[in-house]
Amino acid sequence: MTTTVDTEVKSSFRAGTITGVGEVELVDIPTLTPGYGEALVRIEATAICTWEQRTYSGAQDNKFPFIGGHEVAGTIVSFGPGYRGQLSIGDRVALGASSCGSCHWCYTGKDRVCAEHYGGAVDYAEGWGPGGFAELKIHPADGLFPIGDVPAEIGCLSEPLSCALHAARLSGAQVGNDVVILGAGTMGLMNLIAMKKHGARVIVSEIDADRLAKAKAMGADVTIDASKQDPIATVMDLTDGRGADIVIAAIGHRVANEQGMQMIAPRGTFVVFASAHPETPIEVGPNALHNNEKRIIGVVSSEKQDFYTAAKLIRQGQVDLTPLIQNRYPLSNLSAALDEAILPGTYRIIVEA
Ligand SMILES: [Zn+2]
Ligand SMILES: [Zn+2]
Repeated sequence: MTTTVDTEVKSSFRAGTITGVGEVELVDIPTLTPGYGEALVRIEATAICTWEQRTYSGAQDNKFPFIGGHEVAGTIVSFGPGYRGQLSIGDRVALGASSCGSCHWCYTGKDRVCAEHYGGAVDYAEGWGPGGFAELKIHPADGLFPIGDVPAEIGCLSEPLSCALHAARLSGAQVGNDVVILGAGTMGLMNLIAMKKHGARVIVSEIDADRLAKAKAMGADVTIDASKQDPIATVMDLTDGRGADIVIAAIGHRVANEQGMQMIAPRGTFVVFASAHPETPIEVGPNALHNNEKRIIGVVSSEKQDFYTAAKLIRQGQVDLTPLIQNRYPLSNLSAALDEAILPGTYRIIVEA
C-alpha cells in the first residue's frame, strides 16, 4: 500500500485560543521549523478535556490567551535535524508525554515526574498551552506514539486512556480484584476499560441513570445508583464485608472522596484521580490507615509506558472507545465545541483541524 503524505506546510497555521471566560478567538500563527529532538505534526483531531472546559467556563483560573488541547492525534510532517527514532514522516501518532531521558526520574522509571514531562507545551505570542486546538504543532519526537490507521478521533483518546492505565499500574491492580469507580464520566469509563483489561471485577457508582447505563454497556460488572442506594453499604455487601481492593475517585468531589475512603478494604488503595474545584481536604484518621495498612495515592497523568500501551491497545483495536465520543466540530467552530463540552453529562467533544 502506498500512501501519499502531504508534507507541504503553509507559512502560518490556524489555532483556536481561549481569550477569556466564554471567549474564543481564531488566530494565525507563523509556522516554525522543528528543532533537534522535535517533530512537526499536522493535527487531525483533538478532544476537549476538563482543563479546557474549566478554563472556558471559569471554574478554574488560568492564564489567557490559552491554546488548549492536550488529547491530540495527527500525522508527522517533518522531523528536526538528527532524528534517530523509529517513526517516519507520514506516521499517524498520538501526542503524549515527553521526558529528558537523563534525570533521576527518567533513570528510575518515573518519567511522569521529569521536568520535561509537559515539554510539548507551546508558548506563542498568540497564546500558551498544550496547543492542540490548531492545525499544526511542534512536539518532542520522543512523545509521539503510533496509532496506525485508526480514526484520529479515537487515536487522540490515547492520552486519557494512558492516565487510566497509569492509575491501574500505580494502584497495583490484579486479576480478581474488586475495584470501585466513583463517577461514570469520560474518565470514570476510561478507568473502567483499564481495570477490565487488568481482570478486575469493576463496580461503578454514579448518580446519573444514563451514565450508569453507559457504564453497564461498556462492561461494568455491577452498577450502583448512588442516588438511590448507599454506595458504601452496597460495596461492603458485594465484597462479603471486606470493602474494595481499589477505589478510584474519578470525580473531584468531597462526597466521592469521603465515600471512597470508607469503602476500601484493609490493604486497599484509594486513588485520587480527579482534581477538586473547589478543593476540600480529605479527612483521614492515621490510625485507620496504620491499623488497616491502607494506601492513598494520587494520579494526574501517565508515563511513557502507559501512553505507549494506550496507543497500542487503540491501534490494535483491543479497546472500544467509540461510546465516549459525544460530538465533533471543526476547529473554525471551537466556541460551539466548548459550549457543548461544558454542558453537564457530555462525553468527549472532538475538534477536527
Ligand atoms: Zn485529558
Ligand atoms: Zn527526565
